[in-house]
Amino acid sequence: MQEPDIDWQHLPFGYYPTDYNVRCTFRDGKWGEIEVSTSDRIDMHMAATSLHYGQQLFEGLKAFRGKDGKIRIFRLEDNGERLRSSAGGILMEPVPADIFRKMVLMAVKLNERFIPPYGSGASLYIRPLEIGISPSIGVRAASEYLFIIMVTPVGPYFKTGFGCTDICIMRKYDRVAPRGTGRFKVGGNYAASLVAGHHAHELGYSAVLFLDPKEKKYLDECGPANFFAIIDGKYVTPKSDSILPSITNRALMQLAKDLGLEVEERHMTVDDLTRATEAGACGTAAVISPVGKVVDLDNDTTYVISKDGQPGPVCTMLYKKLNAIRNGEEEDIHGWNTIVE
Ligand SMILES: *Cc1c(COP(=O)(O)O)cnc(C)c1O
Repeated sequence: MQEPDIDWQHLPFGYYPTDYNVRCTFRDGKWGEIEVSTSDRIDMHMAATSLHYGQQLFEGLKAFRGKDGKIRIFRLEDNGERLRSSAGGILMEPVPADIFRKMVLMAVKLNERFIPPYGSGASLYIRPLEIGISPSIGVRAASEYLFIIMVTPVGPYFKTGFGCTDICIMRKYDRVAPRGTGRFKVGGNYAASLVAGHHAHELGYSAVLFLDPKEKKYLDECGPANFFAIIDGKYVTPKSDSILPSITNRALMQLAKDLGLEVEERHMTVDDLTRATEAGACGTAAVISPVGKVVDLDNDTTYVISKDGQPGPVCTMLYKKLNAIRNGEEEDIHGWNTIVE
């Protein structure tokens, strides 16, 4: 197996071509055979519902080369389950669990030479994508769907080490509607967040901490990640119908409990930030991106979370623990890893 010529340390979070992707089409009321493709193109009808009416959803998970040389995929079944929930949210055809699992394993095995070495901090990012492909000019759900799994190696998220960034609150933007699609992983939510994210970046912040779209009172999603804070020694994370249930957040809640911390899923207000000793954004890409300060731009108020600008002890511990499980350095007591045979 030829090693690709990649500088793993400096690989960005971008698209690096791999050898194969796997595909499956839903047509005539059933899923067809799984196909292996070497093309990174899709030939589709210009009136496809995904292009006009946003019938599109995706997932994101990672495979790691472990200390023992084995390949581990983190929480595969949970990603499959969330994909089916997203499909229900925008009237798309859910991909059955067995097809999802088989295709993820195939995509990883076929592209094994792109799985970064243990210790590099890099990983193989797995991106399942489902789109409506049958043509329709009237607004309705497609009758045909294409499900693709592509993979691409991605470098370490923290190029200069695990560190804090600042985030901001801006009330003039909402990511999603109160009873909208916030809890589904669909492209439309991302399109709706781009202007706000771009504005925040221009002002020097890494992300927008969105407030709930109805009352503008409760903390919601942090850019494309979930938010949590350590308050009075407890792990506290917002509970809301407009937040995507992050699998990383769920894993961190479990690890916090394992460490003896109390975990609260509840409404959080801006006021809670005054008592937070640590905070972070969490998701597959970074695991935890610790927060230095939260700046409320509308009220000209700054909530300093980290006094010395460094990640706090709980964030650091949880971050290390989750990485150790994914790399096979620590026992996987919750059965989160799928080992690729
Ligand atoms: C994918 C995603 C997350 C993180 O979910 P993980 O399962 O932890 O990767 C959080 N928020 C949004 C909006 C997302 O799309």
